[in-house]
Amino acid sequence: MALEEYKRKRKFEHTPEPPAKVASKAGHRFVVQKHDATRLHYDFRLEMEGVLKSWAVPKGPSLDPADKRLAMQVEDHPVSYFDFEGIIPENNYGAGTVMVWDVGTWQPLSPVPVEGRYVPGTEAEAAAMLAKGDLKFRLSGKKLKGDFALVKMKGRRPGSKGNEWLLIKKHDDHAVEGYDIDEYDQSVLSKRSLAEIAGDEGSREWRSRPSAGRGKVKAAWLADAIARLDKKNLAKKPTAKKKPKK
Ligand code: MN
Repeated sequence: MALEEYKRKRKFEHTPEPPAKVASKAGHRFVVQKHDATRLHYDFRLEMEGVLKSWAVPKGPSLDPADKRLAMQVEDHPVSYFDFEGIIPENNYGAGTVMVWDVGTWQPLSPVPVEGRYVPGTEAEAAAMLAKGDLKFRLSGKKLKGDFALVKMKGRRPGSKGNEWLLIKKHDDHAVEGYDIDEYDQSVLSKRSLAEIAGDEGSREWRSRPSAGRGKVKAAWLADAIARLDKKNLAKKPTAKKKPKK
């Protein structure tokens, strides 16, 4: 069953992460979360078939077609994970800080290019490409744009789980030579750096905060935290917090 593994790995009374629920509506969003867990990595998630198909990308996605980024497929996540930002407390699966690094929409590309260019494909083509291990898609995000491919690695390395893919940027107008992901340490939701999310008292309070009954706002705990942060920043003198040096 979908999300079974997601559920099995988590104790929802101890983590602020959303519960396992398969969405009934089909959507085409994507999210990239920067996740400072045991090892810093980026989680790349595509909304498909009522869940977020997920890959952990140690070096993060790149806009440089020369970079072939290792992407380990992990368990499907519920679509409500889309705007999860905050702290997964210690002793929980994936403990550490999570930033919503990029969001947007995606569309499948037809596996067969027309006159050397990729053109939009169908749902059925997307499902077939995923099953085959060669998924081509176009992203329209705030940071990531253009055509990409996720290609499953055939040769299994010793000790590999057979879940290794490569995330590759295709050549197009959005390609950026020498793309350096470390230059973009800012949440698209809250504008905070990973260090700011990690150190924010507001984030700590989210843990036990019930999120129900807040009307239209989807992630109420997040909206609350951002509102609190805005208020705090307004109240503060204009001496902006200095970013820690790299
Ligand atoms: Mn992760």
